[in-house]
Amino acid sequence: MKIVLLGAPGAGKGTHCKRVAERYGIAHLSSGDILRRERAEGSELGKKAQGYMDAGALVPDELIVEMMSQAVKKASAGYVLDGFPRTVNQGQVLDKSLAAQGDGIDMVINLEVDDRVVVERITGRRSCPKCGAVYHVKNMPPKKDGVCDKDGTGLVQRPDDTEEVVRNRLETYYRQTKPVVDYYKSGRTVHDIDGNGDADVVANVIFRKLDPLARKKK
Ligand code: AMP
Repeated sequence: MKIVLLGAPGAGKGTHCKRVAERYGIAHLSSGDILRRERAEGSELGKKAQGYMDAGALVPDELIVEMMSQAVKKASAGYVLDGFPRTVNQGQVLDKSLAAQGDGIDMVINLEVDDRVVVERITGRRSCPKCGAVYHVKNMPPKKDGVCDKDGTGLVQRPDDTEEVVRNRLETYYRQTKPVVDYYKSGRTVHDIDGNGDADVVANVIFRKLDPLARKKK
């Protein structure tokens, strides 16, 4: 099963892709997570991506496309894409490379969330630098303030989750990534889902779309 989950930053792509990957036994391929790992390792790619990420801008397509095509090739049991494609060009390259293998994306889901909710969610987001667990100061607080429930590590805020950078990321989303929704809509069905509500409710709506596809693919 090959799924694309679209949505603005803070729409809940990470949360829902994780749940989808677990439910259907497929890989969760997050371009943002892969880039953050590359940065932590100090790789060439990580160094090149750094400035763009911290400013809330997009990393150039040629770097991302190469990185994601390697990740996709390895995910033989299927995958859910989180944060990729983020430009129409990325979407076209992905479609072409899948079509060359007689393959294609099975379903595109678009999470729709109000800007106000996005800013509130992102600026309150905290994560564990050790295990990657994600919390929210109000909506999903850890048991002990500022500390990861799983391993006791001090939680941190992503440098691009401050209010100023979030505004840039939203602007980047409307200018470069929203057209990806229209690109997919021009050739296929895109399932728009209201992502403003409670995560469990949104997850159930997503599962109701994907369960029949998963049964068909078995
Ligand atoms: P995310 O964790 O998905 O919010 O991504 C964090 C940052 O990584 C973005 O603000 C971009 O700078 C960069 N990034 C992630 N995915 C892509 C992509 N598909 N194309 C370009 N830049 C990306």
